[in-house]
Amino acid sequence: MNESAEVAILGAGIGGLTLAAQLQSRNIPFRVYEQAPGLSEIGAGLGLWSNATRCLSQIGVGESFWAEHGCEVQSAEIASASGRVLSHCDVRPVVEKLGTRSYVVHRADLHRAIAGKVSPESIELGKKLVCLEQLDNGVVLQFADGSRSSAAIAVGADGLHSRVRAGLFGEDAPHYSGQTCYRGIAQREIDERHVLREIQGKGPRAAVIPLDDRRVYWWTTEAAPEGGCRSPEDEKAHLLALFADWAFGVPEVIAATPADAILRNDLYDRPPLPSWSRGRVTLLGDAAHPTTPNLGQGACMAIEDAYCLGNLLERDVEPGAAFSRYESIRKRHCEGIVKASRRFGWIGGWSDPLAVRLREVLMATTPEFAVRRSLEKNIAPSFSI
Ligand SMILES: Cc1cc2nc3c(=O)[nH]c(=O)nc-3n(C[C@H](O)[C@H](O)[C@H](O)COP(=O)(O)OP(=O)(O)OC[C@H]3O[C@@H](n4cnc5c(N)ncnc54)[C@H](O)[C@@H]3O)c2cc1C
Repeated sequence: MNESAEVAILGAGIGGLTLAAQLQSRNIPFRVYEQAPGLSEIGAGLGLWSNATRCLSQIGVGESFWAEHGCEVQSAEIASASGRVLSHCDVRPVVEKLGTRSYVVHRADLHRAIAGKVSPESIELGKKLVCLEQLDNGVVLQFADGSRSSAAIAVGADGLHSRVRAGLFGEDAPHYSGQTCYRGIAQREIDERHVLREIQGKGPRAAVIPLDDRRVYWWTTEAAPEGGCRSPEDEKAHLLALFADWAFGVPEVIAATPADAILRNDLYDRPPLPSWSRGRVTLLGDAAHPTTPNLGQGACMAIEDAYCLGNLLERDVEPGAAFSRYESIRKRHCEGIVKASRRFGWIGGWSDPLAVRLREVLMATTPEFAVRRSLEKNIAPSFSI
């Protein structure tokens, strides 16, 4: 058995690595166990709102990183597929109030930057957790390669299909939203930067978001049976047909993306758990509260969870006390976001022409201050730093 680490972090995604960076900065011993043979993220973009960027700046991913890799979000819009802007919200007053900006970034750039704050010797790759046993004074981890490790406490940051969660609370399948999502990055210059615009049609939705002056990140969603899959060329042809007459450059960015670089993911969340922790083990990020991406808050919440938990572990040596404080700060907030995100995706996916008309009227008549208030509710921090 390996030498006992104080905190074992299962999963080196954005959440797990943020916790590792936070613990390292507080001199709390830890080890990260990641199933993949290397550290990497997928080729897509990520919206990071103020609630996450303020935590990232505390671990050293701040202004200079954003200046090089981020595209600041200054306004948020909802538009129709034909090109009509239904709702416009200037994000800057919220950002000013909250004190930190929001950005769109390439996932790989962010993942690399956070990983750069963690000493490589603390990360073990190719370690797929298969089960976890709790003892009176620690936790024993069993990996797929037959090796075992021990730790004082363990944190499951192992995503949507978390083994840690299943070990604590039993196996249950995630809830399929009924919508599948395609994503890609296209090499394309775009005039309009700093606008986060969701385009809603009769069922399908899309967005085209500049990452910098050379690249745009785009995504689309549509209703589809769970687990659907075509060849890359057929997926691309399907998207080009579905979005052929959409405004705001949607068909152009799809056409400019190589078929084999287009990602497809079914969108899931899960109902809330009564608790995220049991004994010496807790969960964070998607392992605790996976959400549909409709509010762009999944990674943001993982980052906040990690930062909050890292702080509490420094203060409370007794894991039970730290975990219960962590849940009292984070759980209700995250559950509210998961619920709001599910609702937003459901409304955005309406396909009945009358319902779509109603949605468009509602969007167009909601005053900007009300949209801003709801945005602020979603991106406001749930704890002070
Ligand atoms: C289409 C789409 C768009 C999105 N857009 C946004 C957005 O704009 N903004 C935003 O904030 N969020 C967004 N999200 C959500 C975001 O991607 C996730 O919430 C975030 O990645 C969760 O981070 P995590 O660290 O909790 O989990 P993950 O990123 O899933 O990381 C989990 C890690 O654990 C590892 N792992 C898994 N099982 C094991 C095991 N048994 N043993 C060891 N390691 C294991 C995995 O390999 C992985 O490295 C989006 C999601 C989707 C699907």
